Amino acid sequence: MSKANVLLVPYPCQSHINPMLQFAKRLASKGVPAALIVTRFIARTVRFYAGPVRVESISDGHDEGGLPSAASVDEYVERLESNGSASLAALIEEGHFTHVVYDSFMHWVARTARGLGLSAVPFSTQSCAASAVYYYVNSGLLDAPPPGDAGGRSEPFAGLPGLERWEFPSFVFHDASYPALTAPALAQFADRDAGDWVLVNSFDELEFEVLDGLKHHFKARAIGPCVPLPAVDDSVDVDCFTYGANLLSPEDTCIKWLDAKSPRSVVYVSFGSNASIGAAQMEELARGLLATGKPFLWVVRAGEEAQLPRHLLDAATASGDALVVRWSPQLDILAHRAVGCFVTHCGWNSTLEALGFGVPMVALPLWTDQPINARFIEEAWGAGVRARRDASAGVFPRGEIEQCVRAVMEDEDGSDAARRWSEAARAAVAPGGSSDQNLEEFVNYLRASAG
Ligand code: UDP
Repeated sequence: MSKANVLLVPYPCQSHINPMLQFAKRLASKGVPAALIVTRFIARTVRFYAGPVRVESISDGHDEGGLPSAASVDEYVERLESNGSASLAALIEEGHFTHVVYDSFMHWVARTARGLGLSAVPFSTQSCAASAVYYYVNSGLLDAPPPGDAGGRSEPFAGLPGLERWEFPSFVFHDASYPALTAPALAQFADRDAGDWVLVNSFDELEFEVLDGLKHHFKARAIGPCVPLPAVDDSVDVDCFTYGANLLSPEDTCIKWLDAKSPRSVVYVSFGSNASIGAAQMEELARGLLATGKPFLWVVRAGEEAQLPRHLLDAATASGDALVVRWSPQLDILAHRAVGCFVTHCGWNSTLEALGFGVPMVALPLWTDQPINARFIEEAWGAGVRARRDASAGVFPRGEIEQCVRAVMEDEDGSDAARRWSEAARAAVAPGGSSDQNLEEFVNYLRASAG
């Protein structure tokens, strides 16, 4: 009987909890006990549907209000480390844990676990491509083109295409707005040697060449997509997909509204859990979407609502042609037959979810890993198109948005490609699929090294 017992520690926000909770469920389904660590605030305020996965909590120094109550992301990251190390150590000392799987940029989790004799394995919630760029830049193997070199590209390297400067994940540059995240992001895999595990939320078929390159440096294994997807033989059009931990409440109106629309007629628009696009971009987006004449469902989080040009949308919302919600059940939306295209910021979870449910994308990438994800969506996977930003205005203009939405909604090849990716994604996590085999290999390692 295996003694392996795994603690999983995501950065405490929606887009990192989602894939790591899903991964914890997969581990548990293979008979490995797994516990997900969240903050005390999240444990108290969020209802978890974690199945066999236990949910445990540590302190981030903001037990009353969590991340939203922090003065800044930098301040939060620092307090999370100082408070979290002590409280994680206490949890490890109490329990019978053998391994920690940690969000790959949270080095303090690995230090704490290893200091107490546990092995710690990084889990990247980003693509292999973004993870590889960080690793190669940090190791001096890859250079970004210098600032001002418009159109200049890096050399293609180890499965990565030549990249323009703006396509590099933005924490590569030390002038990023979040200094407390920059260095940890760059150094994510700096301590990994040949034979050391790195888990990546991707799948072999999607990023084969990049994974192959990384495998020369450490034991990179794709175990995704960590997205609750329909089984290979099931219809995608079922409305009951959830990771099991909503930090915000999804609005019920969405599915009823979609039910009244024709197949593949609706444009779904969301910029994830964190991005603020600003008033000027919202106006361009509203005008571009209206110009397509297609119904659209747009997520505008509560904090962004004041910037929404409601007067432009009043007629469309009154007639039922548009719906604006503060938070959506995104998986159920992507699974709905009425949705024909996803206008997305290309966060990695949103990207994997769109691929997994076979919805072609219009990419409006903003920062971090989003530009490189957008590049792959368009060029490598044929699963959508990238909108071009007007550099002087600093926005994706209305005409560009209109044209991209029309192109994606009318492009049968793009829809076919998206459908094929859905099949490949579901096959990867099905029994015997590439990610399932990698997970089996990881479970064997856990059992063998649990003592
Ligand atoms: N999401 C959701 N409802 C929404 C918008 C987003 O449930 O209205 C989920 C989405 O399914 C995804 C996550 O929030 O799992 C966003 O993660 P992503 O990596 O795409 O972007 P980030 O939030 O990191 O920018």
